[in-house]
Amino acid sequence: MNEKVRCLIIGSGPAGYTAAIYASRANLSPVLYEGMEPGGQLTTTTEVENFPGYPTGITGPELMEDLKKQAQRFGADIRFGVATATDLSVSPYKVTIDGEKVIEAETIIISTGATAKYLGLADEKKYAGSGVSACATCDGFFYRKLTVAVVGGGDTACEEATYLAGLASKVYVIVRKDYLRASKIMQERVLNNPKIEVLFEHETLGLTGEGVVQGVNLVKKKGTPVEEQVHLDIDGFFLAIGHKPNSDIFKPWIETDEVGYIKTIPGTPRTNVSGIFAAGDVADPHYRQAITAAGTGCQAAIEAERYLSEKNA
Ligand code: NDP
Repeated sequence: MNEKVRCLIIGSGPAGYTAAIYASRANLSPVLYEGMEPGGQLTTTTEVENFPGYPTGITGPELMEDLKKQAQRFGADIRFGVATATDLSVSPYKVTIDGEKVIEAETIIISTGATAKYLGLADEKKYAGSGVSACATCDGFFYRKLTVAVVGGGDTACEEATYLAGLASKVYVIVRKDYLRASKIMQERVLNNPKIEVLFEHETLGLTGEGVVQGVNLVKKKGTPVEEQVHLDIDGFFLAIGHKPNSDIFKPWIETDEVGYIKTIPGTPRTNVSGIFAAGDVADPHYRQAITAAGTGCQAAIEAERYLSEKNA
């Protein structure tokens, strides 16, 4: 027999856990499935210094463990398991967990996050947390007065390069084409910043360094007669080649933009299906911060409570 729940939360980053705190305090008896990466993207970072309330900082895994404990304190049922399929055509909505168990939910909060894209080099794993990062706002502070490189030519890369230029002494932007894809205004900010040097038509081959990143090997104008190998001394290597929102299993029912971010009614976490809400990075192409994810998780739980009260009134 299928299990019936009032509020199902899918995903366990700051959005999911915050939704669980609010939903359990509102007596919705939420069930939360943690997904493939319990704790979400923050568990892959080291120090978190910008989450309000921690004046001396906290590690990403500790912060997520605290949020989880806080949700459990109010009775949230937090489980291992990955949502693998959905049928959101009628309420109660059906979600299959691990290809087997089916949950029937009156409300769903989708907080499955987004995954930063990597180049796929073995060195990205080798130096993970030791000079390789996919979030300048999270980790830029550790590179004050140092030299960093940002890979990518879109708005994210330009934004991150500009942010890093406020901290680092030198920022290289590694762009595979001979132009930036970013909006004009973002391009101008990068091109006019004396601390930023854009390297067009460069691709990354690998990273170097004893234990931590100390350099990057590039190839310039690959496949042309003037192809050339280039080495740069750097202290940090930032990926900014896009994110993939984890929304695939919802797409038959839930509207997304062309990249896959779930569309919500502006200013709310409501999706196009009533009773289904989206919180955190899966619906946020712009801010992607732990605190903004937590904020929308709170909104989603409040919306779920109101939806259920109105439905059962
Ligand atoms: P984009 O997809 O716009 O850009 C990705 C960049 O990374 C491109 O320059 C692309 O190169 C490059 N890239 C992709 N794969 C590789 C690879 N394997 N090796 C080297 N380079 C690679 O992603 P963004 O994250 O920049 O932006 C996503 C969306 O969010 C956009 O719509 C953007 O406008 C928006 N955004 C808006 C912001 C704002 O308005 N403040 C801030 C940040 C994002 P190529 O061009 O060759 O494909």
